[in-house]
Amino acid sequence: MKKNPTPQQIALATTGLQILALVACLIIAQFIFQIKLSDKLILSIIVGIVLIFIFNYLITINALKNFIYRKIKTIYKSIHNLKQPKGKVYSEISMNEDIIGQVEEEVSGWTDDTNEEILELKKNENFRKEFLGNVSHELKTPVFAIQGYIQTLIDGGLDDQNINLKYLINADKNIDRLISILDDLDVISRHESGQMVINYEDFDIVELAQETIELNILKAKKRNISVGIKKGFSNAIMVSADREKIQQVLTNLIINSIKYGKEGGNTNIGFYDMHNNILVEVSDNGIGIDKSALPRLFERFFRIDKSRSRDAGGTGLGLSIVKHIVEAHNQTINVRSTLKVGSTFGFTLQKTNS
Ligand code: ADP
Repeated sequence: MKKNPTPQQIALATTGLQILALVACLIIAQFIFQIKLSDKLILSIIVGIVLIFIFNYLITINALKNFIYRKIKTIYKSIHNLKQPKGKVYSEISMNEDIIGQVEEEVSGWTDDTNEEILELKKNENFRKEFLGNVSHELKTPVFAIQGYIQTLIDGGLDDQNINLKYLINADKNIDRLISILDDLDVISRHESGQMVINYEDFDIVELAQETIELNILKAKKRNISVGIKKGFSNAIMVSADREKIQQVLTNLIINSIKYGKEGGNTNIGFYDMHNNILVEVSDNGIGIDKSALPRLFERFFRIDKSRSRDAGGTGLGLSIVKHIVEAHNQTINVRSTLKVGSTFGFTLQKTNS
């Protein structure tokens, strides 16, 4: 960046120029009027010039100081009061430094910070609006369905043996759906408000995966999908994580592999050593995911096929919760998928004693 003159340099230059002009005037006058100058007079003039120089310099630097101090202090105060960047403290103005350059730098830093903040706020605002819209839409669907069933029962359907029990069962299913959405929202909000506590313990991830498969075997049977651990992973693999929450992650991924898997297909769970971590992969040979949808997959309420997800009891919040849990362990989750071929969701866990 181009360096600006310091106030001291400006005062020196202006005073110097004034003195030069004064000396030039004296020389010209001496030429025109042919004045004979005695040594004493020359000495008095020199002393006078030096005194004028000092006096002028002091007046100029003081005027500059007052002016700059007043103007710049307001700028400094405004930008630092609005936002006091960490580690930066308002400092007194020094007259032998490039004040303008410093202020330019500080103001441009402040503008960058402020722009970043504005962008972040705008993003959050859009996110909040979109989220509120999604929540109300998701809640409306089951609430209106319940209202419809109850209204029909009130309007005479209660005495109709063909529909009364069926409508009550349907209303009950929609209440279950409302409860799952509220439960999932509760998990997400607890995580986002920093209330998700991770209780680390050492456990065998292969055993936990086997246990989770068994808990979901009925769901898998309904779609004739075989769920199992890949061959060669019979030995225990000890990891350090929150067992209950990792079971929630595995449950979500296994249920998704069944929901979006191919009838008669299979889901496999594999474990891979990655130095300090273990990579757990849940793979299916189901419908797969289009490449364009992959970056948004872990967003709340993101669903590729809304009706398929709803019919399968999905809230669209599962993968978002899974991501929250994995990241709360300081680990990562990723997905590989090919449309009509299948998907593999993989997340890492810390090995015990690593
Ligand atoms: P949902 O409750 O809809 O299943 P998720 O957050 O668990 O919500 O998943 C989000 C979306 O990601 C699903 O609606 C589905 O479109 C897609 N998805 C998740 N898992 C799979 C999978 N194994 N195969 C294909 N698509 C999947």
